[in-house]
Amino acid sequence: MMRTLKDLEFWFVTGSQPLYGQDAIDACVAHADDMISQMNEFGLPCKIVNKGVVTCTEEITKLMKEVNYQDQCAGVIIFAHTFSPSKMWIKGLVSLQKPLLHLHTQYNQEIPYATMDMDFMNLNQSAHGDRETGFIASRLRIPRKVVVGYWKDPEVTAKIAGWMRSAAGVVLGKELKIARFGDNMRYVGVTEGDKIEVEIKLGWECNSYAIDELAELIAKVTPEELAAKMAEYNEKYTMATDNIAAVEYQAKTEIAMEKFFGELDADAFADTFQDLYGMEQLPGLAVQNLMASKGMGFGAEGDWKVAGLAAVMKRMGEGVGKGGTAFMEDYTLNLEKGNEFIMGAHMLEVDPTVAATKPTIEVHPLGIGGKADPARLVFDGKGGEAICCSLVDMGGRLRLICNDVVCMQPDVPMPKLPVARCLWKPLPSQPEAAEAWIYAGGSHHSVLSFDLTAEQMHDWADMNGIEFVHIGKDLDMDRFKQRLFVNDMAFKLR
Ligand code: MN
Repeated sequence: MMRTLKDLEFWFVTGSQPLYGQDAIDACVAHADDMISQMNEFGLPCKIVNKGVVTCTEEITKLMKEVNYQDQCAGVIIFAHTFSPSKMWIKGLVSLQKPLLHLHTQYNQEIPYATMDMDFMNLNQSAHGDRETGFIASRLRIPRKVVVGYWKDPEVTAKIAGWMRSAAGVVLGKELKIARFGDNMRYVGVTEGDKIEVEIKLGWECNSYAIDELAELIAKVTPEELAAKMAEYNEKYTMATDNIAAVEYQAKTEIAMEKFFGELDADAFADTFQDLYGMEQLPGLAVQNLMASKGMGFGAEGDWKVAGLAAVMKRMGEGVGKGGTAFMEDYTLNLEKGNEFIMGAHMLEVDPTVAATKPTIEVHPLGIGGKADPARLVFDGKGGEAICCSLVDMGGRLRLICNDVVCMQPDVPMPKLPVARCLWKPLPSQPEAAEAWIYAGGSHHSVLSFDLTAEQMHDWADMNGIEFVHIGKDLDMDRFKQRLFVNDMAFKLR
């Protein structure tokens, strides 16, 4: 399994120099100690570790090498308390391979007019020093997050917390293994992609396996294992079928998957209804329960990219608790004028992480795949603000598309619909957002998250060196199309 947020920490480095004497450096050390001990009480998702005050090239270079080498360190936060000449940072920053946040703040909140002297001015000059630091990071073209404001301000803390999650997504992604049963759904384009490019940029490893290896494991599930899984289903969900044998087949499938993915150390997987040799049912309930209980990333129809994105976004959003992160698919539309919205669903595999109602276990026929009627969870999705993200391969580069959306819990019964369903209005409106999404080449498969924001996904994309486009309330279609055009050229030049 990939590590999680709790396994990670961030290193805080305070920049200074010897020019103002040891007293000034001692004051920097004391200020950094105070800031970091207080910031660790602000409810950040990961701990900040104080790495002291650096004053020369050798110290900075040594520290950045250590940042790269220590696995628990997910990134570095720098603050140039006094003036820290930036040529000292070149060798260190050139070698840095982890996310970087530049915190432009100041130890004191207000200017102390009555008491300030030149010693105070020399000590508290991040207004000056942080610009020097900014210059060298820009000169080196280092993707990084710049956060500006008083370090105790909750808005500043929230920005740091949000970035920590994005940085963790970058670092944890380097550990992600995606298992793919079979290949892509025949003839489908948007779910395809360059696995080598993805591994180079995002670190995700994707390898394929035969589904009959899973079928062999299903046949070996013991009665005790099956009883325990059925008890778990009965506790979490409402059994709304008499076809218990069909539910038991999904339970055995899930047990087999847990063993198979555990052996592979995989946190995401994809399957396809066109490659189910040896299987009695398309995995439905099995996948749904795995996504919600183990944070498994999943993609249907061979869509390994969305599976990886779901796994990473689930780790990034861990503990936020606003509503979950789930594999989703645009299914059908309400095109009533002025009240346009999207219904998301899938033929089976909607993640109950985003359920507003207690899911029911039901068994219904599935028109495609040519297998037995599969058991699945049926529920209504939650309401609330969320984002929808799609990762596409543009040929030579990856593009992440992120749309701000407002989800609505359905208030009408859908007695004939045998799958889970979610409703959302994309911003600024469904017609405008879908137009932009289609120009950008976004998939019908996406990751819906109540726990993450467009800003966090933008930071994540920047740190990974991939393209990011945002569709939100301020969408301007001319500018959006121009951005796609300019990005196309910019990425060709890279
Ligand atoms: Mn699909």
